[in-house]
Order: sequence, then C-alpha cells, then structure tokens
Amino acid sequence: MLADAILFTHFAFVLFITLGLPLIYLGAARGWPWVRDRRWRALHLAAILFVAAETMLGFACPLTVWEDALRGHRPGVGFLERWIQRIMFYDLPAWVFLVAYAGFAVLVAVTWALVPPAATRRPRGHGRVDAQPPATASAFALIARHFAPLARGFPGAYGLLDDAAVISPVSGGELVVKTDPVVGGVDFPSDAPAALVARKALRVNLSDLAAKGAVPRAYLLDLLLPASVDEPWIAAFAAGLAADQAEFGVHLIGGDLSSTPGPIAIAVCALGEAPVGRIIRRGGAQPHDLVYVTGTIGDAALGLGVLRGALPALDAGPAAFLLDRYRLPQPRVALGPHLIGLATAAIDVSDGLVADLRHLCEVSRLSAVIEARSVPLSPAARVAIGDDPRRLATALTGGDDYEILFTAPPAAAARIDECSRATGIAITLIGRMEAPPAAAPPRVTVLGDRGEALQFLSEGWTHFGRR
Ligand SMILES: [Mg+2]
Repeated sequence: MLADAILFTHFAFVLFITLGLPLIYLGAARGWPWVRDRRWRALHLAAILFVAAETMLGFACPLTVWEDALRGHRPGVGFLERWIQRIMFYDLPAWVFLVAYAGFAVLVAVTWALVPPAATRRPRGHGRVDAQPPATASAFALIARHFAPLARGFPGAYGLLDDAAVISPVSGGELVVKTDPVVGGVDFPSDAPAALVARKALRVNLSDLAAKGAVPRAYLLDLLLPASVDEPWIAAFAAGLAADQAEFGVHLIGGDLSSTPGPIAIAVCALGEAPVGRIIRRGGAQPHDLVYVTGTIGDAALGLGVLRGALPALDAGPAAFLLDRYRLPQPRVALGPHLIGLATAAIDVSDGLVADLRHLCEVSRLSAVIEARSVPLSPAARVAIGDDPRRLATALTGGDDYEILFTAPPAAAARIDECSRATGIAITLIGRMEAPPAAAPPRVTVLGDRGEALQFLSEGWTHFGRR
C-alpha cells in the first residue's frame, strides 16, 4: 500500500513537471496569466526538487522503508509496473539519473528565462499583470468580470480575449473614428458617480460621430485608474457603459486597463459608419447658409455653476435639471445621420457655442452672425440667467452642451423641420453665415437685443489657456 502510494506520487510528480514545460510555452503563446504567476512557478520548482530528492534518496539509502518496499516482492504486478521498476531501480546506474536531472534543470532554466514571470515583461492579450491594478484582483480578472460582457453581440471583438478587434463597414460605408479623453478633476469631479463618469466619457465621443452624420457602432476603452479605486467602482462604471450601449446600439470591442499615479483617466475611441465621402465636415459652409443648433444651449455650463455653488438662489427643480444636463449630455445620435445631404457643415458644441461656431467659421473661411435672443434656452436656464448678462455669457460661451451646431442653405429649411419632427429633437435657427470683408479673418458676431455686438471675456473652454 505504502509502495503504491509512493510510486503513484512519484509518477504524478514526474508527469506534472514534464508536462509543465510545454504548458509554459503554450500558456505564454496564448496569454494565460497563470504562466507568469510566481506561485505557480514555485510549485513547479517544488515538484522538481521532490522528484529529484526522492530518486536520489532511492540510490543513497537503499534500505529505507519505502525503497525496500518498492524493491520487495510484489506478487501479481503487471507488465508495465515491472518495466517501470526495471528502468527506475534495477538496470540503470545512478549517473544516468544525475545526467537526466541536470539536463532537465537546464531545460527548466531556459524555459523560465524565455518566459519570465510577471513584473518583468508584459504578457500578450488584454490587461496588464505588471502594473498592479487598483483592486486586489488582477487586470485580467477585472476585464473578464466587468468588461468582457460588454463585448457580447459583436463577433469581431472576440470576447476581449485577443490582441485586436475586427470591424467591417457595411457595403458603401466607411468608418468614422473619434477619440476624446476625459480626466478626473479636469473634465469631471473626482468624486463623481462611476456610472455617470463612464456614460459621459462614451457620450462625448458619440456626440462627435453624430455631428459628422455617422451611425455609432463600437468603441475602444483605455481606463487608467489610481490605486484608490476599488472593484465596486469598476462594476458601477461598467454598468454605466452597459446602459449606454443599450441606448445607443454600440459595443465595447477592445482597449486596456492599467494603473496610474495620477487621477482617473479615460480614453474612449468611438467608431461609426457613414456613406463613403458623405460625412459632414466643418469646412463646407457657404455664404448665406443659415446657422442651426439642436436642443438647448448653456444648461451644462450653468449646471457646473450649480455644482460649484455659484447659483445658490436657484430653486431645487431647475438646479437639478441643469446639474443633470452637465453630468449626462444627450448626444444627438438619432439626428446626425439625417443631416447628411442637408447640412453643409457641422460641429458638436463641446467647447461652447461661440467658440465652436468660430472653429466652424475658420475652416469654412466665413464669418457668422447670430442673435443672442434666438439661442434656445431651457426654462431652467432662463430662470438661472434672469437678467444677469454674465450668466447669459456663461450660457453662450460655456462648454459641455454636446448639441449639434450646423449650417444649411435656406432651401433646406422645410426638410430640417421634417427631421426635427421625425426625431423629436428641437432644431433652432440662430443666425447666418457671411463672407468676411476682404483680408479680414473669419469671426463670430453675437448680436444683443438692440442689435449691438456683444463682447465676451472668453469665447469658450480651452485646456491650455485662461477660461
Ligand atoms: Mg467636437
């Protein structure tokens, strides 16, 4: 009985250590994380030492109880066992085993050198093992638990288990690509709810696709998290993405998860589709085109004011509405594709109405004149602004509205009304495009109630300048 147990253990270990070597290579090629786990290597090493020690003990102490048992009379042993006993203990001298173990040790050393453990080289596949992620679980486990489900339903994402994804546009279509990062403390408060942070990070990119007339299909996500972020935060973040995937018909198809010594940083790269050569550029506006904007303007900037305590007298109702508009923009995904063939130029309002209209003017080499009183304001924004000209300026120049600002010829007016009715998204005429005087740079003029040109301290948000 004892002999059987020892023999069984011996061969089980031999099998484990010999199969372990090809498994290391196979696992490294396929990106299995345990291959680089130091605990697994320690177990492998322990098994090798055990087999070597046990075999050598067999030679050195032939009279030990278990060796004696192995060599003893074993009535009824089969052919295989007799053969194994002959090889292991009778016919081969000790030096054969010594050479075999030395060769095996060299093989193991070479294998481990070629496939180093975690913390020295990055494995293939998604996720990092070397940069320890914020939660205690490995990045692989976090991706498998929270992000792989977001790739279901998109075959080219391969369940987030491969190095890259495949996306094929429908016939006659081309891919439209956009990436825009958001950073904690810059684009959102660091203590903002995770689900809202996720949805905003995705939506700001979908908004750009919508402004180009593209239908969104998929997105990549790079998520850099500080050590203070725990797994429940990641779960809530993924739940926010799942909600927006359902709302906008997109899938996560790849990306990475890593750690950072800085604040939370999120980069979404959104991929959409549009008919070949038909996306709505910034530079296509013509003189006498009319300027339109969707939804309402200024809610997000005033909502940020609410968040910062700059509007203390505002009632709870309007304050909550403005705050919500700041936290969760509504990209005009349903409208964008309808504007292809109607709009001559378009841009989404992210930096501020005046600044973004100026961007459009610069590329179109035209000027624009808009009327402040035509700019659509929500009832909450009207209450917040009252008759304070500084707050009106905040609404016209603040960022984060994520509405679509576009130009179209006057002849398209009826069809634009039709689009608005069909999608349920308000579209408001706010001004017109003009050719600037010769040699003058393109400019945006905002007219006040008495027809005077309004002056603003700043036209909109800029990352690298004064606000
Ligand atoms: Mg934009």
